[in-house]
Amino acid sequence: MRQKKRQYYEITVIARTLKRSEEAEAIPFLRLLRSPKAARNDSNLAKPGNLRGCRKERMVNQSEKGLTYHNIALKDNLIIDADNSFWAIPGEDGEGNPTIPRKALSLYENIRGDLDNQMNDFRFGANLTALYIDPTDRCNANCPYCYIPARIRKKGRSMTENELFFILEKAAKYFREQKRKAVIVFHAAEPLLVKDIIFKGIKKFNNDFKFGLQTNASLLEIDDVGFLREFQVGVGISLDYYSPKINNRLRPLDGGSGNFRAAIRAIEWFNGYEGMNVITTITKFNVTGLSGMIKFMHAKKVPCVLLNPVRLTQKNSRFLKPNEALMSRYFIKAVDKAIELSKKSGHRIIIGNFTNVILGIVAPTARRLMCDISPCGGGRCFLTITASGRMIPCGEFIGLKEFSGGNIFKSGIKEAMQSPSFKKVRERFVEKIEECKSCTLRNICGAPCPAELHSLGNMYKKAVFCEFYKKVVNHAFKLITTGEEKYCFRKQGLNNLEYEYKLLR
Ligand code: SF4
Ligand code: SF4
Repeated sequence: MRQKKRQYYEITVIARTLKRSEEAEAIPFLRLLRSPKAARNDSNLAKPGNLRGCRKERMVNQSEKGLTYHNIALKDNLIIDADNSFWAIPGEDGEGNPTIPRKALSLYENIRGDLDNQMNDFRFGANLTALYIDPTDRCNANCPYCYIPARIRKKGRSMTENELFFILEKAAKYFREQKRKAVIVFHAAEPLLVKDIIFKGIKKFNNDFKFGLQTNASLLEIDDVGFLREFQVGVGISLDYYSPKINNRLRPLDGGSGNFRAAIRAIEWFNGYEGMNVITTITKFNVTGLSGMIKFMHAKKVPCVLLNPVRLTQKNSRFLKPNEALMSRYFIKAVDKAIELSKKSGHRIIIGNFTNVILGIVAPTARRLMCDISPCGGGRCFLTITASGRMIPCGEFIGLKEFSGGNIFKSGIKEAMQSPSFKKVRERFVEKIEECKSCTLRNICGAPCPAELHSLGNMYKKAVFCEFYKKVVNHAFKLITTGEEKYCFRKQGLNNLEYEYKLLR
């Protein structure tokens, strides 16, 4: 079946189902591959004018439901139903007009309702599956774009062992009732400042949760690596550049130069560990070096890098904003570099947030990163617990006092989920945003980020980097049409997907 999807003389409509160990779930993946030969000679083709809701001259900026056109490149169009991410790439008739086989259109009509329902459940269900725990508010670094205000980073508190275990017990009880094994991620500020209690927590609650850790690696020791590997902890290491000078300017440590040496040492200790990823924040200081970063990380056997545009939530991060056109160009170059290196070497490197965009197109409900989904995952699929026990929808809200859902030492997770501030975040979705509600890419981009936009004055605005998302999504479509998207997944990742619908002619 997989072979056929890349035979371009055939028109193929494909849907995939995600196979998950515990919960198999239907995932739409539909595409109609370009078929110049077949299309030209086929009298059974519909013209775009026959498509419901599909008007070439009124494409992108109309809020019509159903199929609309979207340009992915100068000459390339696709049709897409933005509500459920059904999409297809038309062929051409003898006069160069786009054509869609009737068979594909009737498939669309038949499954449209199901796809709408799948997408709605995925977007509007509030299935809490992860907790981010900040076991300390303190940090030994001073990254200029940090979303935690400096006064909290330097003077904040740390949890005691009893407090951390109290939270983990409470969470374990909550998730047992929900019959779910959740993920606990130890996150900002620098969790390894309280390494002892975290590691004890991982050992003690190993059967209750999967664990993750985000760190600047400055306090990581070689024995810790063995421990983290043994307990299969997902580890994110922060590193912004492949040269110490630029990296250390962006990731300075207290009383020292920066985390470059420590991060590289840790990456080498992990030696290709599948649970490791490197997180790079894109700013105006590293934007042109993104593909260099990928090359460097590939040589260090890193399996996954996240290239995240800096969020402008905190005032001090705003002067680091990269030029959007430059960021689009260099991000896409980095994607192509990752594909090139993965193709010609035994080691595959993926850009995790780009893979999420590909998934947004081929299997939208299989996405795991929550910023591209609208409403986003904050206060819906996960929440953050700060060192003082405050529950907030996402770490990005940490400096925004009005978004508290209560304190875990006094109230429960359920209460936080039902709190007005969490609801406020869940109620913000693309159809309510004037600039986004008619955008054909609205359910692939998701218009992040509510915290960032709230702090900029109004969360009902389009994404700060809207043009970047459009270019990146278009690049993802182009890769899918050439069959290159497979290099954007971990080798095992693609095996977790299978076709759900298929139409061959
Ligand atoms: S922010 Fe995203 S959804 Fe909104 S207009 Fe831009 S690309 Fe479309
Ligand atoms: S979009 Fe913003 S608030 Fe939502 S999950 Fe992402 S970072 Fe958090």
